[in-house]
This record gives sequence, structure tokens and C-alpha cells, in this order.
Amino acid sequence: MQKTLILATRNLYKQRELIEMLAPLEIAVKSLLDFPNCPEVEEDGLTFTENAIKKARVTAQYCGLLSLADDSGLEVKALGGQPGIYSARFAGVQGDDEANNLKLLELMKNVPAESRQARFVCEIAVCEPDGRVRTVRGECSGMIACEPKGKGGFGYDPLFIPEGYAQSFAELAAEEKNRISHRGRALQQLQRLLAGD
Ligand code: IMP
Repeated sequence: MQKTLILATRNLYKQRELIEMLAPLEIAVKSLLDFPNCPEVEEDGLTFTENAIKKARVTAQYCGLLSLADDSGLEVKALGGQPGIYSARFAGVQGDDEANNLKLLELMKNVPAESRQARFVCEIAVCEPDGRVRTVRGECSGMIACEPKGKGGFGYDPLFIPEGYAQSFAELAAEEKNRISHRGRALQQLQRLLAGD
């Protein structure tokens, strides 16, 4: 029987990336648009893993389906790993990408090119309706640009230059970003995990 998976995110950009990356699997994918009353989850964990598990558990329990939650963010070396788990609300307002990018640029304005290393991290949790959880993690290393570049993607994409590239995530084609990104790498591991079920 075909498996059904519910994506535990209201972030439409993440949703789109996840749907694109799950397409090759024989899995029917639903989103929270199919369950508008599913409770909002407070992301009060201290790690990406804790937050991903919490989101996946609440959603699996409410929807009675296998659920997938992603908790992700940007860790900047010169800022001691900030914004990390606070990436979505770095400048104060949840999901204000423009303000977050401006704050990051401001904090990095005196950091020289050789010290601008950063990495994106993505922790994915999949949870069965009975509460059994599995997690996978993907990372993507790169540098923080000195100005925004490109119009694609979301979040910090215009400021992130992945290792081995001259373009930012926001300048890459969606398929290319998905192939090398933290989320793409976590998904590649998850595909192997789900294929073994
Ligand atoms: P979450 O919804 O709590 O996991 O927050 C993730 C936040 O991390 C987003 O709002 C973005 O600011 C940032 N982020 C995560 N993944 C990406 C990505 O692929 N590109 C750009 N920013 C990302």
C-alpha cells in the first residue's frame, strides 16, 4: 500500500522544496493545508533535533499519519554559531527574511573575507502516529556574502555562497540548490531510511 506522509511545516518555501525532493519516492505527500486546525508548535527546544521531533510528534498524533518535520538554520562561525536555532526570528519578528538578512550583514560588516565561514544545518524528524521517531541531519558549508545576490529561494539564500560555488543559493536553479543543500542532504538520507521500511 502507498505510504502517506504529512509535512509538518507552514513555510511554503520549505514545503515546495520538500515536495520536489520527495517526488521520486512512492509516497503520497500531504501538507498542513489539508489539516488547517493542526495545533501550532512552539519551537522552544534548545537544539534543531528537539524542535524537529516536537513538530513531527504533534503533527503525527493530530493527523494520524507518518509526519515529517524539518528544523533548520544558519550557523555563522564569526558569530559563535548564531543565529542557529533562532534563524527564523534573528531580527525579532518570526519569518522576516529581509530584516534577518540586514541584521546578519550589519553584524558581519567588519569581518574579513577569510573569516566569513558558515553552514546551514537541517534536522529532519519523521514520526509514526504511535510516537516512534527517527531523525537525519544534513549540513552545507559555505561563506556569507558581503551583499545580497539573487532572487530565488528564501531566508538567508541571497547571502549564502555554498562551498565550491561563486553564486549564492538564491542565484542557483532550484534543482541545484536541492541537490547540495542541507535539506537536500538530509532528505537523501531519509530516502534511504524510508526505502528500507
Ligand atoms: P525553522 O522554520 O524554525 O526551521 O526556521 C528555519 C529558518 O532558517 C528559516 O526561516 C530561514 O531563516 C533559515 N533557513 C533554513 N533553511 C534555509 C534555506 O534553505 N535557505 C535560507 N534560509 C534557510
